[in-house]
Amino acid sequence: MNLDDTIVAIATPPGRGGIGVVRLSGPEARAIALPMLRLKHELEAGHAVFGELVEPGGGAEPCPVVTERSSADRIDEVVVTYFAKPHSYTTDDIIEISSHSSPIVLRHVVELALARGARLAEPGEFTMRAFLNGRIDLTQAEAVRDLIDSQTLYQAKVAAQQLEGEAGIDFAEDDISVLPTEQIVQRIATIRGPLEELAATFAYGKIVHEGLTLAIVGRPNVGKSSLFNRLVERERAIVTATPGTTRDLISETVALGGIPVRLVDTAGIRRALDEAESIGIRKSMEAIAGADLVLIVLDSSQPVTEEDTELLEQGAKRPAIVVENKADLSSFPTSVLGSQLPRVRTSAITGEGIGGLRNEILRHIGGETGVQAETGFVTSLRHQSLIREAITALDAAQAAVRGKIPHEMILLDLYNALRQLDEITGATATDDILNLIFSTFCIGK
Ligand code: GDP
Repeated sequence: MNLDDTIVAIATPPGRGGIGVVRLSGPEARAIALPMLRLKHELEAGHAVFGELVEPGGGAEPCPVVTERSSADRIDEVVVTYFAKPHSYTTDDIIEISSHSSPIVLRHVVELALARGARLAEPGEFTMRAFLNGRIDLTQAEAVRDLIDSQTLYQAKVAAQQLEGEAGIDFAEDDISVLPTEQIVQRIATIRGPLEELAATFAYGKIVHEGLTLAIVGRPNVGKSSLFNRLVERERAIVTATPGTTRDLISETVALGGIPVRLVDTAGIRRALDEAESIGIRKSMEAIAGADLVLIVLDSSQPVTEEDTELLEQGAKRPAIVVENKADLSSFPTSVLGSQLPRVRTSAITGEGIGGLRNEILRHIGGETGVQAETGFVTSLRHQSLIREAITALDAAQAAVRGKIPHEMILLDLYNALRQLDEITGATATDDILNLIFSTFCIGK
């Protein structure tokens, strides 16, 4: 990919709206933009200037300062911001033209820029330039993408923290002469420990990044749908309809503790049960298998049935919470099955116990109140795999030291560990990895 040309893209989402921004980055950004602009003042780095977007080629001078307000060649009123190299997002000259967000106007600005030699930016190319020009590292570039993709404010904050580049691993920079074996082993252990701790945070980090799926299972009429609605009503739904899902499983994503939780209600069980009891159970089993957390709902006003027993047995194989619903009715003794699972008594009718159920769910997922929120954690599978590989290389190095393998060979293992960690920040990332990461960005970022 050419890094020296000037790229252009619409930086705001498609559609009509108040303001839309076209962004130009590269050595020719100013020269390409000026002929289509009639500005109130000269461009000045770091300042926004009011002006007009005009058809270029009219005047003799490029970019004459506005003298007459109403001119026939005016397309829109604009605000233009100039970020001078190297103090810009990409470290190159950047011009941002904010017009009204009309797809026609924005596209025209891009076409004018293309006609004057700019190239259409690839997805994520602005951020890629920031990375390749050394302004940010790869984890920060990924944080930009995660921030844009975030579904909850908490996820956005986590990404913003990573964008700041807070996480870091310090290596001792002491001069190292040849040390006794035990000391080498000890030194490797001091690196390995924090890496192991970091890797252990991934289970939680993955939930923060990807959210989790919560299945609500139980016999027909125990109150699954009513509980589902109760859980959803007080939370802001993130996605109301999930296109492409079958009507058998109704799902809705809500933010619980800043984490997107996809609630799956196995409403199809009822319909399936008309055909054969076993299908109903099978549907529940499918929902349980795909869930990170299962709510096993019982009707506490009814004696426990065989079907309940089966669900408790299966559900207990996953992280699960037993919900004894219909607490407002007279209750039967509860089943001892699944007694090791947390239990909550609820009434979907009166609302009793719903707060407790929500807290129990939050306890499971951690969420913004989770202890790990402050200490930093790994949210990316890519980072996690590299940390694991670094640990493996350190283990190999330790084994080599103990096996009295020559020091040069041990260095190879240590270097291998370091290379994995460098790859996290992109210091040694290959083109393939870079393309993979930046292709997941939106255009204009
Ligand atoms: P599902 O088949 O498991 O989804 O159950 P529904 O949510 O459709 O509820 C079945 C019936 O039980 C409905 O008439 C609900 O109004 C009623 N119901 C649900 N939860 C409660 C509860 O906590 N107490 C009482 N008394 N009735 C409930």
